[in-house]
Amino acid sequence: MGRIGRIHKNDKRKRRKLLCHPVGRPLKPLNHKPSSHGPQELFTEIRELQLPPSLSHWNVKSPSESQHIFFKIQEQCNSKQALTVSHTLTVNSDLSWSLAVYGHQVQCSPLFIGYERLTSNSLLSLLIKIDSFNMCPGHPDEHFIPMVKAKGGILLSQTESVSGMLDNSGLHCLNGQRYSETVRSSKCHILVQGIKCFECVKYRSTLRALYSKWTKQQSQLDQPINSPTNDRWLKPSEMRERLQEVRSKLKTAEKKIDYLKLKIKESHERLSIAVDDELHEGLGQIIMEHAPEIKSKYSPNSFHHLFWEQQVENMQKIPSQRRWHPMLIRWCLHLHMLSAAAYDAVRHVLVLPSDRTLRDYTHFIKSGIGIQNEVTMQLMKEANIDASEEWQKFVALSFDEIKIKEGIVYDKHECRIIGFVDLGPTNNHLAAFDNATTAQSSTIPVANHMLTIMVRGILTNLCFPYTHYSTNGVTAVELQCILNNMGKH
Ligand SMILES: [Zn+2]
Repeated sequence: MGRIGRIHKNDKRKRRKLLCHPVGRPLKPLNHKPSSHGPQELFTEIRELQLPPSLSHWNVKSPSESQHIFFKIQEQCNSKQALTVSHTLTVNSDLSWSLAVYGHQVQCSPLFIGYERLTSNSLLSLLIKIDSFNMCPGHPDEHFIPMVKAKGGILLSQTESVSGMLDNSGLHCLNGQRYSETVRSSKCHILVQGIKCFECVKYRSTLRALYSKWTKQQSQLDQPINSPTNDRWLKPSEMRERLQEVRSKLKTAEKKIDYLKLKIKESHERLSIAVDDELHEGLGQIIMEHAPEIKSKYSPNSFHHLFWEQQVENMQKIPSQRRWHPMLIRWCLHLHMLSAAAYDAVRHVLVLPSDRTLRDYTHFIKSGIGIQNEVTMQLMKEANIDASEEWQKFVALSFDEIKIKEGIVYDKHECRIIGFVDLGPTNNHLAAFDNATTAQSSTIPVANHMLTIMVRGILTNLCFPYTHYSTNGVTAVELQCILNNMGKH
């Protein structure tokens, strides 16, 4: 009695000695007298029992008349560690008992059959048996612990019942290593004869599945590139991460493009047939032979007819002598604007105007900001103003502003830089005056919007893009000035 707080340094050695002793074998009666008494006498006997030296690491205490407690203190790893009670065996006056290991109640499992009611003899045997068991270490894997902590220390099953929990009540030993935290199944047996209890072994697959799901969720949260958050709400670190991801994606895409280009080039070299002069002549001959057939199939006013005629006619001429119908030029301009590369590819097969020829048409009028006399003349021509009736001259001005990419370019033909805000002379002067009076920066901002004004006939089909202005988001006052100026014209 009275061994509370005494720590035996050579406990391990003693226990090893005990473990050599088969658990099932009846012990030699130590201080034992044959017990043929009632429960009260037996309980008194237990209370007065002197533990043999082999069980001296068990301490005893009687908190009340009806309870007697045997407890063991956890072995200390270092002197700074606080003392912790590892095992507590409580014997009640009716000779029933309960066992707690690190605060976990051990259920009366098949391990303790035959120990339902204790006697002083079976008590010693029970203590030796408890000493012989290991504590189930659960799953102290490093990666499971943060997951369970993140989930509040418990794991729920699909039916929302607790299936596993974090245990940081004591030191858990697995494969010679000690862990202060572990994850165990809610059905864990706590004490085992082997290494790990059956329930914890079975629970590992569930734990793995939960971990896989959790890491997936975490990675989705951690990757700002996949999150739908707008760039402007990201932190600088997240922005950097997203930028890196985008760069790596771009790099991958570029590699893929290079690979596909190479493949196309290879297949082109492998499968294409070079058209030599002889073949060219043969193809020309076929076209000439079938020309009447094609001409008879399409009406003379159709584009197909015109297209065929132009092809046959220009095929026989050298490039400088080729002449083009305006309709064909219009079609080619349309095709060129859709895709310049596709137009180039089509020119390898069909006889079509060159880029230079098309440029003469697209650059007929010098493009510029604001009202231009050449454009006004063109509008008059388009509207056929001289021949039209008074009612045909009613027009409306419609305008729209679109977002454009910011940037400045140098126009080598006119020796000027294009890309700054330009709202016509009146608005520019007003803006300069405004800047001067409000002491703001006198630099002209780079435009990010394009304002286009169209002239539309109210009673005619006239639809003519008249002017455009580079803006930074036009204001009502600026727009009024522009429209007034246009009205005068
Ligand atoms: Zn277990």
